[in-house]
Amino acid sequence: MNKTFATGVAALAAVVLFASPVVAQRGPRGGAAGGGQPGRTGAPGAAATSPLGTYVASLPLETLSAAESASIAYMREEEKLARDVYDVLWATWRVGAFARIAQAEQQHMDEVKLLVDRYGIEDPAATTKPGEFKDARLAALYASLVEKGKASVADALQVGATIEDVDLSDLKRELAAADNRDVKAVFQNLAKGSRNHLRAFSAQLAVNGSSYAAQYLSQAEVDAIVAAAHERRVVYDENGQALAGAAGTCTGAGRGGRGSGGRGGWGRGMGAGAGAGYGPGDGTGPNCPR
Ligand code: MN
Ligand code: MN
Repeated sequence: MNKTFATGVAALAAVVLFASPVVAQRGPRGGAAGGGQPGRTGAPGAAATSPLGTYVASLPLETLSAAESASIAYMREEEKLARDVYDVLWATWRVGAFARIAQAEQQHMDEVKLLVDRYGIEDPAATTKPGEFKDARLAALYASLVEKGKASVADALQVGATIEDVDLSDLKRELAAADNRDVKAVFQNLAKGSRNHLRAFSAQLAVNGSSYAAQYLSQAEVDAIVAAAHERRVVYDENGQALAGAAGTCTGAGRGGRGSGGRGGWGRGMGAGAGAGYGPGDGTGPNCPR
């Protein structure tokens, strides 16, 4: 706060000193102008030593079908879609759920990357920037969801539920088509994450007296997921059975990193806000399953 205030004073002094003829105006949003990002400390790339990573590494390398290969590449980008949309919605609305879940989606991307690397598949997310996708359907979905999510917080929460709905629908289909144990184990855990995220978004919608209407799964499936408890500190095997002791290696106490906040300032399209980008630090630690 003091720092923000000091920055604002300095910026104001600069305006006075240089006597800009432009009428000072508030910029669109300090946070947006400054590009604050959710913190990503807490070693998001620790998937290789996570309980799931350890389990996947213990499984035999089986022959990969063309369908499984395509499925892995697609899920890698679908998790990226979730991460990229939530990053935008976090930057737009500063609702902490988007920052936390974006971090989880990064972890999901890392988990699919285990399969990409294990089988030597070309990584579709190797060079694409945020919001860019090799898959045309995901590119179009990203554009429409970001547009909708920027309309209001309620729309943003609906977009969150929509992403988890489509993710679960795709995972259901891909799980049915896959037979390699490592592929199925990763997908089972992605689905667990999506169920938890659907519960989180639904809970926030419920606070505002709203709810999510299913678009990809059936309404009965969505209702059953939302009614069930969050699946915490559990890692699943290829059959969706909890791995004994896997969550015991969760080290906990992860702290969110601080993002670079927006700078205060006046005039010429500069935002006046503080833009305090920060990771929420939900205490789940680098190895905790999400
Ligand atoms: Mn996910
Ligand atoms: Mn998700």
